[in-house]
Amino acid sequence: MNTALHPLDVEKIRTEFPILQQEVHGKPLVYLDNAATSQKPIVVIDAIQDYYLKYNSNVHRGVHRLSQLASDAYEETRETIRQFLNASSLQEIIFTKGTTDGINLLAASIGRGMIKPGDEIIISAMEHHSNIVPWQMMCEDRGAKLRVIPINDDGEILFEAYEEMLNERTKLVSIVHTSNSLGTVNPLREIIDLAHSKNIPVLVDGAQAVPHTKVDVQALDCDFFVFSSHKVFGPTGVGVLYGKKEWLKKLPPYQGGGDMILHVTFEKTKFNELPYKFEAGTPNIADVIGLGVALQYVQKIGYDAISEWENDLIQYALHRLQEIEGMRFVGNAKHRAGAISFVLGDIHPHDVGTILDREGVAVRTGHHCTQPVMQRFKVPATTRASFAFYNTKEEIDQLMNALHKVIEMFA
Ligand code: PLP
Repeated sequence: MNTALHPLDVEKIRTEFPILQQEVHGKPLVYLDNAATSQKPIVVIDAIQDYYLKYNSNVHRGVHRLSQLASDAYEETRETIRQFLNASSLQEIIFTKGTTDGINLLAASIGRGMIKPGDEIIISAMEHHSNIVPWQMMCEDRGAKLRVIPINDDGEILFEAYEEMLNERTKLVSIVHTSNSLGTVNPLREIIDLAHSKNIPVLVDGAQAVPHTKVDVQALDCDFFVFSSHKVFGPTGVGVLYGKKEWLKKLPPYQGGGDMILHVTFEKTKFNELPYKFEAGTPNIADVIGLGVALQYVQKIGYDAISEWENDLIQYALHRLQEIEGMRFVGNAKHRAGAISFVLGDIHPHDVGTILDREGVAVRTGHHCTQPVMQRFKVPATTRASFAFYNTKEEIDQLMNALHKVIEMFA
């Protein structure tokens, strides 16, 4: 559903995000830390409050009115997400705590269900720690091997190296859609097609994709896709794992407990149908409902309008940042979205971030949970400005003014 308002009405949109109206250290807040977490529109905050004020109740187990209202709102959100991702079935949509939780769920389940000593898992050199460590732990546990696709100096994967890595021992390719520290958008269709030509399933880490671009899991043909609500204008503590039904049916459950069972005796448990087989315990009901409202909000603005606006912002930011002497971008991929990482001469990124904060500009500094990326580019950390559709060119000008202050102070 792409009901884009053309052009994107950023002034109106900004009024819908109460947090953006404030000053920080006496300066208007310029929020450029969207890759860490995005801000929430008032409709999302209202929806969560409504749940607690009017129909707080547990889902799936009650015959009373409030429980029915809560169950309906919870399950309607599953349908919103199915449409959002264009999944073919509600059984393919599993609620999680977030991207990290979704990957841990799969690593545990795939590890237990289908990994033998000597098997291989492939990831890339630009993964977030949450798409490295769960596989490392699982590989150690099962005697399997983790293989890493290298990247070039622009921060793009080396496709030939990837092609050579795939073999009969490869059990999964797990790859990021859009890198949080480099801004690279990976050529997913090619990556997935190549894996599928050898019958290898692919998991896509979509944490930094869904805030910026329309994702169609059937068009991508990925086997699994994970994302976090809080990066796509929804609340923290909730996320989604999409999985093709044929895979989810085969895989064993991750956690045991209430809701994921059909029948329990002390001798044996019969597990529930999909998607409940993977949803043990009382879920994060209020925030699931909030996520549904956030996705409807994004769809109302429309991804065409969002992409156009954000591409313009990124091009403008790259152009302006190049004016600064000593500017080095970390990540120069041809296809990019969301974030710009840089180092400024020999000024430590933490100093850059601290001075920018005094000017009201919120950026993130550090390794961005991608320490291997820092090692690859031989930097201890970067400064990262990351954008959302509510950012403006005027805010980029404020970032520039603040960066000039940093340079003056270190001159
Ligand atoms: N993957 C990527 C690419 C990310 O940027 C992040 C968070 O920054 C994650 C995974 C982990 O997301 P979460 O902390 O919401 O589980």
